[in-house]
Amino acid sequence: MKLVTYATIDLSALQHNLAVARLFAPDSGIIAVIKANAYGHGLLSVAKALSSADAFAVARIDEALVLRKSGFQQRIILLEGFSNAMALDACRTHNIELVIHCIEQIHLLEKYKPLSNIVLWLKIDTGMNRLGFDTKDFSIIYPRLKACLARNGEINFMTHLANADDPEDVKTLEQIFIFQETVSPYGNACSIANSAGLLTRKESLKDWVRPGLMLYGISPLIDKTGAQLDLKPVMGLYSQLIAIKTVEAGESVGYGGSWITPKPIRLGVVAIGYGDGYPRQASVGTPVLIKGQKVPIVGRISMDMLTVDLSLQPQAEVYDEVMLWGDLLPIEKVATAMNTIPYTLVCGVTARVPRYVIRGKS
Ligand SMILES: *Cc1c(COP(=O)(O)O)cnc(C)c1O
Repeated sequence: MKLVTYATIDLSALQHNLAVARLFAPDSGIIAVIKANAYGHGLLSVAKALSSADAFAVARIDEALVLRKSGFQQRIILLEGFSNAMALDACRTHNIELVIHCIEQIHLLEKYKPLSNIVLWLKIDTGMNRLGFDTKDFSIIYPRLKACLARNGEINFMTHLANADDPEDVKTLEQIFIFQETVSPYGNACSIANSAGLLTRKESLKDWVRPGLMLYGISPLIDKTGAQLDLKPVMGLYSQLIAIKTVEAGESVGYGGSWITPKPIRLGVVAIGYGDGYPRQASVGTPVLIKGQKVPIVGRISMDMLTVDLSLQPQAEVYDEVMLWGDLLPIEKVATAMNTIPYTLVCGVTARVPRYVIRGKS
């Protein structure tokens, strides 16, 4: 059966992008970030394709447990750590490494000390003001955390960059500097870089790097597409033209009649909508690709459908394939047209869209 609306997930592209990450950070361990269902690509198939990564990172404990239950034995780092005793217990049972970012977590660890066979990542807030300890508290926090562990416990240090998507932004170097100042008296393993840091800032390549977005073939940088960084897009999102009609000039199209035909047009109806995760906020003019030609979305996005102006593609026929994003229509460009970022687009593809795993273009 030919699927009407589906995503393709190209596992060879994933592996290519992992190799690119290794080229940029040849001396660092790679923590492949596969949170949020591997950025919408499908947790297990992505983890399998990236099994040569040195570790995985996820945000929530259930994501980590799914990996363990599916037999993955790699190191797994829980980026948000734990927030109660039960979660801590589950992580210890399943050998999941924990990010420690707030004092409440240390209070809990102190109840159970000394903890053996555990790896912790002490997170320092160097200016993002999200998770992590203040640098001024570090010299007190670190010994206190260390005191929770038995001899065989391990503590690594990490921080997260806020503005690395803009290579010109001076905050990135400031954050790296603050981190180095804070951790330099200690010899622990460190991690700073996300995808953007990895691609633009050698200073951020420590013992471990934490690429996410770039592994999916998407540029994390505001001024570049994935292709310009030699990345290959992993997800293609496809649908089909399910109807074509001619509409007179001056007619309104779709809910609310917010778009009026400026001239007589051939209007195409595509079988994808916000129920599939195609954002309703997509503005008129956002491109889709039909038979190699970009055509603009017109009218509002419905739950299961959207409409396009086929004036630029007179050859379009009912049942033609429509690419919403993929190798021939960069998701970075689509996201810009919608005034959003590619992260939200791939994460937003809903469960009803089948992910169809491929290896390279067939
Ligand atoms: C999501 C995340 C990453 C990966 O970020 P990308 O921009 O996708 O490379 C790295 N580190 C932390 C702490 C994260 O939350």
